[in-house]
Amino acid sequence: MRRSLRPGYLAVIAGCFVAGTLLGWTALAAQVDNYVYDQMFRFFERPGPDPQSVVLGIDEATLREMGGTAHLRSMVSEALEQLAIAKPRVVGVDVILADKTDEAVDARLEAAIGTVPNLVLSCDILPTGWEDPLPRFQSRAGAIGHVHPGVNRLDGVNRILPLEMTMNGVRRWALALEAFRLWKGAPILESPDDLEIGGVTLPAPRASQRALRIRYLPQGIPILSLSELKKNPSQAEKLKGKAVFVGVTALTAARDRVVSPFGEYLPGVEVHAHAFETMLRGQFLTPVSNLSQLGIGLMLAIAVGFVFALRSGWQAWSLAAFLLVIAHTIPVVLFRNGVLSPYFAPVSAAWLTVVGAASYQYFVVRRQLRQSEADKSRYQEAIHFVAHEMRSPLTAIQGSSEMMSRYNMGDDKRKQMAQMINAESKRLARMIQTFLDVERLSEGEMEIKDEPFEADALVRTCFDRARPLADRKQIVLHYAEPVEATLAGDRELMEYAFYNLITNAIKYSPVETQVWIASERRGGDLRLSVRDQGIGMDAKEIRQIFTKFYRTKRAEQSGEAGTGIGLSIVDQIVRLHGGRMEVESEPGVGSCFTMVLTRVTPNESGQIQPSSIANRQS
Ligand code: ADP
Repeated sequence: MRRSLRPGYLAVIAGCFVAGTLLGWTALAAQVDNYVYDQMFRFFERPGPDPQSVVLGIDEATLREMGGTAHLRSMVSEALEQLAIAKPRVVGVDVILADKTDEAVDARLEAAIGTVPNLVLSCDILPTGWEDPLPRFQSRAGAIGHVHPGVNRLDGVNRILPLEMTMNGVRRWALALEAFRLWKGAPILESPDDLEIGGVTLPAPRASQRALRIRYLPQGIPILSLSELKKNPSQAEKLKGKAVFVGVTALTAARDRVVSPFGEYLPGVEVHAHAFETMLRGQFLTPVSNLSQLGIGLMLAIAVGFVFALRSGWQAWSLAAFLLVIAHTIPVVLFRNGVLSPYFAPVSAAWLTVVGAASYQYFVVRRQLRQSEADKSRYQEAIHFVAHEMRSPLTAIQGSSEMMSRYNMGDDKRKQMAQMINAESKRLARMIQTFLDVERLSEGEMEIKDEPFEADALVRTCFDRARPLADRKQIVLHYAEPVEATLAGDRELMEYAFYNLITNAIKYSPVETQVWIASERRGGDLRLSVRDQGIGMDAKEIRQIFTKFYRTKRAEQSGEAGTGIGLSIVDQIVRLHGGRMEVESEPGVGSCFTMVLTRVTPNESGQIQPSSIANRQS
């Protein structure tokens, strides 16, 4: 797995995607979605063929001439009488005829209703139930349909029409739908996701009150004034074979004025005509399913994740910009293809993942890169150091062999030189071997022996070997109260590790200080520790000293040569033996390195030895 596709990165991408998707369910998102929806209407909706519906409007002039709103019922009668002659294909009346008025007026209307075929009367919602036309009207009409508009509460814009509404257990279809049914002369077939009428499938899921997105015609619906028709009966030609919607168009008097996505005020009766046209043209806006919506956001988030994981710099930025453009255009492209997709959710998911992925790559991956570059430079330093160390035996070998070949020497001298060459080349071979071992160990290629050995013998060997180093700095080396225990593992490696701890303690301590070596049983573990009075480290440094090539500032300033490899090897060796390292330290006070070893068998006596040794008496 690539470094940059780590679980942390995946969690950031997933978090941003979830946050973006959740934001898509907020009220703000709903408002943005609606705003974008309206804008798309304005940009992309083009006038199509001429509408098949006409609004026969009771406008200002009609009201003025026919006695005002008090005489609305007479005006409807007048309209229906005219329509009986004009012969439209269907008629919808968006005037509530629920109350009894003057008997003569009602009788006239009843008669007029009987003369118009395919007539839909309207009903509305009251807190108590449906407000229906008087039975005498209803019985003569072809159908009744509700005229309740689906106005958005947040911005007052009417984008949908609930095709189905139920009050007190009584269900009513919308006026426009009933008009469409009569137009088609076919029944309404229901399924959970849509309605079908005469071969036209309306995408109107039951779960959404069968909400239908109204595709308002940009050119509007032709409106004929009732007063105009009355004065000029030849206008009736315009109504022949059409769907005529009768209603109040005078905006001052209409009780149901709404705003369309185009931002225009429309009388309710015109909204029904627009909804009717939507059904007639069969060009529906189908809402994208929740699953597809999630899928779109997820694909974008994954794409963004890959972009920042696999590319960097301007390439990543341009690809991310490209994906953002896609996120912004997907809803538009879908809209143009009759599919309605929310705008906010995919866009916010895409933006958030871009910001999240870019920040992660910048802050985390860059830091790792800097770290590995620092490791590399430390590694080079270490190579320089090793090369430098190897030079001294090499120089000795070269010098001695040159002298032997140039000068005549006595046998003794020659023997001495040969011995020196031999010793120095062995030292060189050991150094090379150690370096190779260390590399192989860190690659996990080295074979580890598994044999028992005495803990005390191990410590004593290291103690003896380190004694000359301590003497050179007049450091007192103590080894008190050894515990008898048998360890299992690779003695050579353990020696290497423990010796390293002692030489470090000597190396990083000032002259004339003391170093204590101790072994202790605690629980089932054996603790081998080295305590010094040296330069010490702070907590942050302690966390890093087992990292390969890491050296503290203090160690570097001390002038002691080092590679920063030793402790990383110590740690690996101890872990390979099922143990762990513990470090306590305080800058300027001293440090205590402890090997906690778990593969321990106590010796028969298991007792504490009374003896203690030191390289000099303090
Ligand atoms: P080296 O000694 O070659 O630098 P090590 O891996 O042995 O590398 O140690 C890593 C670092 O840990 C040292 O450079 C030093 O900064 C710190 N360190 C190790 N032992 C001690 C100690 N006894 N006291 C203070 N610092 C220590």
